[in-house]
Amino acid sequence: MNNSTDLIQRRRAVVAQGVGMFAGETTAVSASGARIVDADGNEHIDFAGGIGVMNVGHCNPEVVAAIQEQAARLLHASIHVATYEPYVALCEALVRLIPHGKESGGSGATKAMLVNSGAEAVENAIKIARQATGRAAIVCFDGGFHGRTLLAMTLTGKSAYKLGCGPFAPEVYRVPFPSAFHEGHRGSEAELVNQHLAQFEERFVRGPIAADQIAAIIIEPVQGEAGFVVAPPAYLQGLREICDRHGIMLIFDEVQSGFCRSGYWAAFQHAGVTPDLSTWAKSLGSGLPIAAVLGRAAVMDAALPGTIGGTYGGNPVACAAALATLRVMEREQLSARARVIGDQVRARFEGLRDQCNVVGEVRGLGAMMAIELCHGGDPKRPAPQVTAAAVARCRAEGVLVLTAGAFGNIIRTLSPLVISDADLDRGLTVIETAIIAAAKEHATS
Ligand SMILES: *Cc1c(COP(=O)(O)O)cnc(C)c1O
Repeated sequence: MNNSTDLIQRRRAVVAQGVGMFAGETTAVSASGARIVDADGNEHIDFAGGIGVMNVGHCNPEVVAAIQEQAARLLHASIHVATYEPYVALCEALVRLIPHGKESGGSGATKAMLVNSGAEAVENAIKIARQATGRAAIVCFDGGFHGRTLLAMTLTGKSAYKLGCGPFAPEVYRVPFPSAFHEGHRGSEAELVNQHLAQFEERFVRGPIAADQIAAIIIEPVQGEAGFVVAPPAYLQGLREICDRHGIMLIFDEVQSGFCRSGYWAAFQHAGVTPDLSTWAKSLGSGLPIAAVLGRAAVMDAALPGTIGGTYGGNPVACAAALATLRVMEREQLSARARVIGDQVRARFEGLRDQCNVVGEVRGLGAMMAIELCHGGDPKRPAPQVTAAAVARCRAEGVLVLTAGAFGNIIRTLSPLVISDADLDRGLTVIETAIIAAAKEHATS
């Protein structure tokens, strides 16, 4: 008897198919560290991390203990009804670790609000930016992903995630995200950045939409679903300058890149640019639903009482999980560990160039690494069949990986940062072997 097959059959009978299956017919019964055990008792090395959620590892004992303790004391109260310490303590920890103060505005103090999901954080950041500016328009980016609620989906750039779901929210404008590889840009990064900033000014400053109508620019410092495309630091600096000049709120969506994954608490620290507002979720709660909006105090306080929040936002148990998660990250110095992991993954993926001809680009920041597979390495010839075949081979060999990108031709690594050196090494060997075999199988002239 095959329990996984059974379970998948039961799923297909009652779970709506729109709830996508991104990693084939994988099942999970238990997990610990960087390993998942499926319904048939097979162990898998996890390079998906529940979509980048498990930075401190599955069922981290410290997190589990904090959850159990808090669950027995106070399960729910709603922050709108009664103030409980875990909510306040988590906001204190977040503003200490990721300050948003800057000289040019207000006291320099940072404030926070808590919600349940990344999409909800994005919705609230936009509402806050609109109240802070009294403006409506939002600028977002090609390839961006911000979640599946209506406004977040509107901001999302991947059509496959939006089919038939419109009409979408008004006052959303999209611009290209700089990527030397995809644009076939041969010059320097400075040239690429200057081109994009000039284009931006043209379209929104001198162009059809007046800059003083724009409430916010929302950007992922490292695009997640697009396949770990890192925004050039100078580009983020340029956006910061445009925002300062025109009173626009700069929002960084750190839902996927946050909490050590990029080698920093915030990927924006890599660029030395501080946003007015930022959004957080995924690895904050180690699996419990918790997300946050952080921002300069003056901006955060522009939202009037009653306009943001929700029944469950910042649930005490989820807050306890997040506090324990942050403690583990600090103590274990997981940002430093992320850089070590990232260096290894990069070296191994780059090494594939000599062994097959489907390596387009190897890129990322910290442990947020991806390999884009293209025939002949040409960005105009994406290789989704090779990618799908490679991922299926990995799964058969007990390694769980996710794809990304508009064409599904990118393999990304989102392993828990507590993965052992041995599991990392074995996982990467399986991925390499799978890509080489899949490239042979699907070779084109
Ligand atoms: C996953 C993700 C979201 C949406 O988060 P949910 O918790 O799934 O709503 C938003 N932004 C980015 C960058 C993400 O990766």
